[in-house]
Amino acid sequence: MVISNYGIFVIETKNYKGWIIGKESDAYWKQVIYKEKNSFLNPIKQNEYHMKLLRSALSLFPDVSYYPIVSFAAEADIKIKIEKDVVSEELLLRTIRNYQTEVISDDLKDEIFNYLKVIKKINRGYGKKHVQNIKEKRAQINTGIKTKICPRCESLLKERTGKYGSFLGCSNYPMCRFSIDIN
Ligand SMILES: [Zn+2]
Repeated sequence: MVISNYGIFVIETKNYKGWIIGKESDAYWKQVIYKEKNSFLNPIKQNEYHMKLLRSALSLFPDVSYYPIVSFAAEADIKIKIEKDVVSEELLLRTIRNYQTEVISDDLKDEIFNYLKVIKKINRGYGKKHVQNIKEKRAQINTGIKTKICPRCESLLKERTGKYGSFLGCSNYPMCRFSIDIN
């Protein structure tokens, strides 16, 4: 995160090389490196979530502008056509410098910085909980794929095809909305 006179830059960094393929609306993006394909959470969406948290943490400062940026390793070949800032790390500084309208005074900048320091102290436990939630979700997904049984309600999981590709969905839908992307 960068607090500057030109706004607050919320930067999601991904140390991935190779081809980076995806669309703004996709839940997952793909990394293709030699013959290997890996999917990972769409970082634009991850970053939107981080910005939402930051915005609510800084609700005392409603007039601040936020700019999300996704930054990949310098060797990444980003095959993504979107208007948003998704860049390799060598273009990160230039991307930030593109924003040249002064919207935050020096005093306000210090105020925001100090305010965030205080919040960080108060919320020290929150980061742990966030990591714990992610671990639990991952464990649920692994169990679901292995057993084909919904980890939330123990109904069968069934393969279905939706707008965004195949997924395993709970047969107890709509009572239970557990699903796993298997694109
Ligand atoms: Zn279920």
